[in-house]
Amino acid sequence: MKRVYNFSAGPAVLPEEVLKEAADEMMDYRGCGMSVMEMSHRSKTYDNIIKEAEADLREIMGIPDNYKVLFLQGGASQQFAMIPMNLMKNKVADYIITGQWAKKAWKEASIYGKANAVASSEDKTFSYIPDCSDLPISEDADYVYICENNTIYGTKYKQLPNTKGKTLVADVSSCFLSEPVDVTKYGIIYGGVQKNIGPAGVVIVIIREDLITEDTLPGTPTMLKFKTHSDADSLYNTPPAYGIYICGKVFKWIKKMGGLEAMKERNEKKAKILYDFLDQSKLFHGTVVKEDRSLMNVPFVTGSDELDAKFVKEAKEAGFESLKGHRSVGGMRASIYNAMPIEGVEALVAFMKKFEEENA
Ligand SMILES: *Cc1c(COP(=O)(O)O)cnc(C)c1O
Repeated sequence: MKRVYNFSAGPAVLPEEVLKEAADEMMDYRGCGMSVMEMSHRSKTYDNIIKEAEADLREIMGIPDNYKVLFLQGGASQQFAMIPMNLMKNKVADYIITGQWAKKAWKEASIYGKANAVASSEDKTFSYIPDCSDLPISEDADYVYICENNTIYGTKYKQLPNTKGKTLVADVSSCFLSEPVDVTKYGIIYGGVQKNIGPAGVVIVIIREDLITEDTLPGTPTMLKFKTHSDADSLYNTPPAYGIYICGKVFKWIKKMGGLEAMKERNEKKAKILYDFLDQSKLFHGTVVKEDRSLMNVPFVTGSDELDAKFVKEAKEAGFESLKGHRSVGGMRASIYNAMPIEGVEALVAFMKKFEEENA
């Protein structure tokens, strides 16, 4: 068996322990004589799986009782519509544009109401997070929306925006469970799990109960109402059952590793190895303002498209997978999510050093 160091932005690396456990349980889940993939989502066994996953997530994140945890489908992108459809009572929302995902969410919201771009970092190709301490928040805004970690550009909010009392909604797809979080600061925290938690096909929405109402925009499909899924504990229809089972295993892995404090420490250590190297390298350099650097996605360039391509190719041959930057920005990007071991980052830096010497 050969395993590579996988730096993909998503779907992405998962803990080996989790994959092995899933493999062990593939043919016969704990004496059931079948795989979780083959099991009714209405069975007692599956009910235990989804309930335990939720309980573990609540414990890890310290989710208060007045928040619901929903396991949904449609990816993070479906939330771009679902959020305005459910939250736009006044048909007004403020968006902070820090990259393509925030921009897509903003554009989608403008289908349903007045979506204001109250700040943007597009002037410098999204290489920083704008000052959000005193934004022109709309008087009647139903919510303020951010993308907390910008997967493509490699920036992260180190401080949440001052929403002036408005509900904060955050897409945390690429920083989910990477560090401790104060859930009470948000109305909604959501993310696709394929970046930092599990297999593609599951999106987790953590939502304050008062935001779950019957009062959605006219024409909102039943499947796109938070209330539908909340009332049925994520079992209104068939959920992405196997994906949720894997997420549950990742939650257990995080607990075993010491929880989100330990994750943060580990992630800071890994990111430091890479950023420290970039900061002294004569060939490679990071593309993001230092203060706003993401712990999860690290974009870098050599300054030459030709050398970038050579690096990606040689890295792949050496067992470092998916280091090519997003098609919209070029260069390289190393996604170093929770499950990426420290050895993977150390090996990458050693390889970069060697490449630098050979191409000086
Ligand atoms: C990947 C990503 C998305 C899109 O996720 P899908 O599940 O493909 O819809 C949205 N937001 C962020 C921050 C992402 O990283």
